[in-house]
Amino acid sequence: MEYYSNHINRLIEQLSHLPGIGSKSAQRLAFHIINMPKEQVDTLTSTITSARANIRFCKSCYTLTDQELCPICSSEKRDHSTIMVVENTRDLAAYEKTGKYQGVYHVLGGAISPMMGIGPDDIRLKELVMRLSKEDIKEVIIATNSSLEGETTAMYLGKLIKPTGIRVTRIASGVPVGGDLEYIDEVTLLRALDGRVDL
Ligand code: ZN
Repeated sequence: MEYYSNHINRLIEQLSHLPGIGSKSAQRLAFHIINMPKEQVDTLTSTITSARANIRFCKSCYTLTDQELCPICSSEKRDHSTIMVVENTRDLAAYEKTGKYQGVYHVLGGAISPMMGIGPDDIRLKELVMRLSKEDIKEVIIATNSSLEGETTAMYLGKLIKPTGIRVTRIASGVPVGGDLEYIDEVTLLRALDGRVDL
């Protein structure tokens, strides 16, 4: 039985495609949006459209940014000889929030997952290897998650980088297994960073 008009159903359906939004939340959001003042809805939709149109990958570290080089890569205050490898931009943001890490990043855009059919060529490993060959890098800190996929990726990276003679380290465990870095508090992140071990 159809309870709502087509337009409402379509809005609910679109919202329910967003991560973490089940059908109940989608209904709640849909009715909230419908009851919002028109100008507010216009601002919301144009903000989404322009974010999607203007955001791209930094050409050095592949984080999401609206410039060719992200603010971290273009900063002279950062230590460009230390690269922290993270799975995504949210993980980068988690480390940035601590305000203690002075190096730069490399954002893989995922992790190796044989179960999901994601292999080394599906994440930005080649781009990292290219950076290592072109830039003067002293240390690569692998800060992928402690999930099975994150550990697999860390092992793969270790084997890939070690022969180059560049120091490769892995952040200490203590980061909860399977925990997304973005949900971990700053103290734990800093402890994981300080306690990193050579691979
Ligand atoms: Zn960058």
